[in-house]
Amino acid sequence: MRAPVARLVLGRSQRIRVDPVWDTMTIFAREIAGACSDIAAIGALSIARLTRRELTQHVLAALAPGAAPLAVAFCNAHTAEIALRDRTYRQALEKFCVVNDGIGLEIAVRILERRGFPENLNGTDFVPALLGDLPAGARLYLLGAAPGVAEEAGRRFAERFPHLELVGAQHGFFRAEDEDDIVRAVAAARPDILLVALGNPAQELFIARHFDALGARAMFGVGALFDFAAERVARAPAWMRKARLEWAFRVAQEPGRLLRRYTVETAAFLIAVLRLRVLEEAP
Ligand code: UDP
Repeated sequence: MRAPVARLVLGRSQRIRVDPVWDTMTIFAREIAGACSDIAAIGALSIARLTRRELTQHVLAALAPGAAPLAVAFCNAHTAEIALRDRTYRQALEKFCVVNDGIGLEIAVRILERRGFPENLNGTDFVPALLGDLPAGARLYLLGAAPGVAEEAGRRFAERFPHLELVGAQHGFFRAEDEDDIVRAVAAARPDILLVALGNPAQELFIARHFDALGARAMFGVGALFDFAAERVARAPAWMRKARLEWAFRVAQEPGRLLRRYTVETAAFLIAVLRLRVLEEAP
């Protein structure tokens, strides 16, 4: 019997198609990866329920000789909204341990499964904490952001985490025809940890495209992390982050790019989630 398919059309450009038949496949992929076992499903999208400590342990395990490489995607409502309507992106995410970032995801799984996530896991907080927990000599490569930013973020990380070895920093505004050279340069540096800051969905698509060729032990799509680390972009004050309002601060900084994302797209995502809930309850 065919699984139900939810369709949502919002305005001219908003179309979300949710295909729950993919759940089984993505859960299967996650379990095969051995990275995550308690999975929240938002339609076709599978998100691991992990604490910061558990995710850190999975990363450390991936650094062991002979272990399978691990890719981590920090999934917020924007990422989830793309994944629900774009099969290519969803397929790319099958290579990842996808974790929850932000209030939109928390609301979505509470609606669908009446159970939230143990912790909020955003890359901007998780990755620096992880760097502090890495073994001495772990090799770090930063790829992405505007020219000079990865280098500056790398310098700051090296200062803050002197036990790590910075083995490369490369900006993210390269030409498509240079992509293979970039991948070769990363592989030649033999990083344990590769941070990729190309924005969503480009960074996860890049990692998925070159998963093996990059040669890194653990790879992360980190969004604006380098801009924050290099202090090119200010982070929201602590009280806003605690109240899970960091998105509002970012909208105020870049309304042209982010206002639609955090209003129309988030609304479309939550409506799609409600739609899934209705489908689940249908006899
Ligand atoms: N970026 C890049 N190359 C591109 C486009 C973007 O390196 O072709 C960088 C950009 O400079 C920024 C990061 O990707 O450092 C995107 O961060 P952000 O989280 O703001 O983007 P989002 O994922 O929210 O779209």
